[in-house]
Amino acid sequence: MKIDLHSHTCYSDGQLTPKELIDRAHNMQLDVLAITDHDSLDALPEAHAYQATQKRQLRILNGVEFSTGWHNFDIHILGLNLPLDDETFNARLAQQHHTRLQRAIKIGEKLAKAGIEGTYDDAKAMAGKGQVTRAHFARVLVQRGEVSDFDAAFKKYLGKGKRAHVKPDWISIQQAIEWIQDAGGKAVLAHPGRYDLSGKWLRKLVVEFAQAGGDGLEVVHHGLSPDTRNLLASFCHEYDLQASAGSDFHFPNRWTELGRNLGIPLVLEPVWQDWDWATELNQARAQALLDAQH
Ligand code: AMP
Ligand code: MN
Ligand code: MN
Ligand code: MN
Repeated sequence: MKIDLHSHTCYSDGQLTPKELIDRAHNMQLDVLAITDHDSLDALPEAHAYQATQKRQLRILNGVEFSTGWHNFDIHILGLNLPLDDETFNARLAQQHHTRLQRAIKIGEKLAKAGIEGTYDDAKAMAGKGQVTRAHFARVLVQRGEVSDFDAAFKKYLGKGKRAHVKPDWISIQQAIEWIQDAGGKAVLAHPGRYDLSGKWLRKLVVEFAQAGGDGLEVVHHGLSPDTRNLLASFCHEYDLQASAGSDFHFPNRWTELGRNLGIPLVLEPVWQDWDWATELNQARAQALLDAQH
């Protein structure tokens, strides 16, 4: 089984439409794909409508990637297996959309002060009906020739402490977990190896996440060192957390691919443990673990 529980579409800062993403997942022979746009479920009605026209075994899971604030860090919390028609949850998403838009306006103002006018309008137009993210501003800056490439846009303007950085007003980790679980989803700490945290701070983050009732850690993601991967696996045991895996795919490129190298170690309990579609898969995992032990 090929399972990828973290991906983006053009409804946030991904570059593929839901249809294009799903076709790619199908070509990569995925069995399960979670679409997890930043603070948005908006890709999913289109995704399911498209899937309904296809005869494929690929299962699409509803997900979201919440931005939260923790100390001075932007920490991302994935919500997996969410309903699309929960009024409270959708109102809460609308609150995040508002926070995002306000921040985008302020980023535009700061860039204008730096002599680059009109970026908010361009970023907003580029995002279309999706969420405006710093990735859109970065693309605008590249297109206008203000910076040489995408990363330079963050290094010069958009990154923490840079000229056009706006301290975000995101919800707390605890709040994100509560919102996700109130709606019946699983809360997963996204890419724990990508926050530039020391081992001590990473543990502090995981402890607080677990204490707030979080369900699982994304223990398999791109760019994870073997040491950090082992550390995360040990945290799952120590703090009784489930394990998730995701590519965080945004667009076709050399480094990330849907469903590539996302196997979760058999000794960890996967986040899909109690989902009905996974019964056979879980039995196979349990058998493989037994075989490996004998
Ligand atoms: P936002 O959620 O609006 O703050 O936008 C952040 C998004 O920009 C992330 O989800 C990444 O997909 C993307 N991104 C790409 N490169 C960087 C970088 N160097 N620093 C921060 N974000 C980046
Ligand atoms: Mn992103
Ligand atoms: Mn993220
Ligand atoms: Mn992501």
